[in-house]
Amino acid sequence: MRELVSLCKCCKKDVYCIDGFFNGVHTEEKEIYCFECYEKLMKENENPQS
Ligand SMILES: [Zn+2]
Repeated sequence: MRELVSLCKCCKKDVYCIDGFFNGVHTEEKEIYCFECYEKLMKENENPQS
């Protein structure tokens, strides 16, 4: 079963819930990202500019 949950806040791609598994990331700020954008976000956090 595939259920559209929301859009990725970053790339606007559809984020689905597939067989009860949420195919994305729900942040504490109640924002939804696909895995790709979330990984990018994490990498940016690991390597802060300055
Ligand atoms: Zn995305």
